[in-house]
Amino acid sequence: MRLYRAQRDSARKPVNAKYAILGFISSGTYGRVYKAMSRDDGEGQLYAIKKFKPDKEGEMPTYTGVTQSAAREIALNREIKHENIIALREVMLEEKSIYMVFEYAEHDFLQVIHHHATGLIRSVPAPVLKSLMFQLLNGVQYLHSSHILHRDLKPANILITSKGVVKIGDLGLARLVQNPLQPLSYGDKVVVTIWYRAPELLMGARHYTKAIDCWAIGCILGEMLSLRPMFKGEEAKLDSKKNVPFQRDQVVKIVEVLGTPDPSRWPGLLHMPEYQNLARIERYKPALPAWCRGKALSPAGVEFMNQLLDYNPTTRLNAREALQHRWFQEDPIPTAK
Ligand code: AMP
Repeated sequence: MRLYRAQRDSARKPVNAKYAILGFISSGTYGRVYKAMSRDDGEGQLYAIKKFKPDKEGEMPTYTGVTQSAAREIALNREIKHENIIALREVMLEEKSIYMVFEYAEHDFLQVIHHHATGLIRSVPAPVLKSLMFQLLNGVQYLHSSHILHRDLKPANILITSKGVVKIGDLGLARLVQNPLQPLSYGDKVVVTIWYRAPELLMGARHYTKAIDCWAIGCILGEMLSLRPMFKGEEAKLDSKKNVPFQRDQVVKIVEVLGTPDPSRWPGLLHMPEYQNLARIERYKPALPAWCRGKALSPAGVEFMNQLLDYNPTTRLNAREALQHRWFQEDPIPTAK
C-alpha cells in the first residue's frame, strides 16, 4: 500500500509545478488562500488556491474544523457549473494538504461597499446595483434549482471578476436541501454572522429553506444602498450551559425597520420557540419606505426589497420571482455585466 501511494504521488505533478504562487490573499481557521497563475495554459490564467492544512501528522490526517466543510465544498463544487458561481478547477493532494483551485475573482461586494462608503462617498449607481443584484439572484436561482442552499450569503462571499461578473463563492456551508440540519453556528463550530440571518431562524426554526438565502439577499441590497449593514445586531453569546441564546438585539434591529411581525401575515409565528421573547420587545410600526427615503431606490425597488424582507418565509419572494420583478424591467435597465 505504501509503495502504491509513493508511486501514485510521484506520478502527480506538484502544485508548484502547475501553478506559480503570486501572493497570499487571506487565512482562515482551515488554512490559507493564495493568488496563483497557471503554468499550464500559456495565458497566465489567474486562480485562487485554498490550502487546507492537516491538524497533525499521521496515517489519517484530520483538518481543522472544516474537514466536513471542505468535503462538502468539494462534493458540491464538482456538480456545480454556472457563470455566477465560482468554478472549482481541480483538487490536489500533496503532503497531506488539500489544495482546491478556484477561478480567480478580483473583487467582492464588501469591497464595492467600502469603496463607495470611504473612497467615493456616494451610493452605488443604480444600474450597477441592479446588475450586481440580478447576477447574484441568477447564481442563487441556479443553486436553488439544483436543491442547494448557500446558507451564508454575505457581501464578503460574493465575488466580482475584473470584468464585472458576479461569482458566488464560499460554498463551504452550503448543503443539499434534503440533508439533516443542525444549528449553523454550533454543530459545525463555524461562526456565522447573524446580520443576514432570517427571522424564522432567529425565532427558533430548525430547518433551513431556500427562503433563508432570499432574506440574506434583501439584507445585502439594503447594505449596498446604505453602505453599511442593514441590521447590525450585537450577537448574544452561548451561556455557560451552552444554551443557544435568543438573538434579541438582532431581532430589535429588524423590527425597528420592518415593524413588529404580524401573526395574521405570518401564521406560523405564534408557535415558534422564541415567540414569547419576541412578545417582550417594544412594538414598532413598519418603516421600510421611510428607511429607503433619500436612497437610490424607486417605488418598484422599495416593493422588491419589501418582498425579499417578508417575515413570512412562505410568501417571501423566491429567486425566480425576484429575477422577474418589475424593478429589473424599469429604467435604468441593469448594465450587461
Ligand atoms: P473563504 O475561505 O472562501 O471565505 O476565502 C477567504 C478569502 O479568500 C475571501 O474573503 C477572499 O478574499 C479570498 N478568496 C476566496 N476565494 C477567492 C477567489 N476565487 N478569488 C479571489 N479571492 C478569493
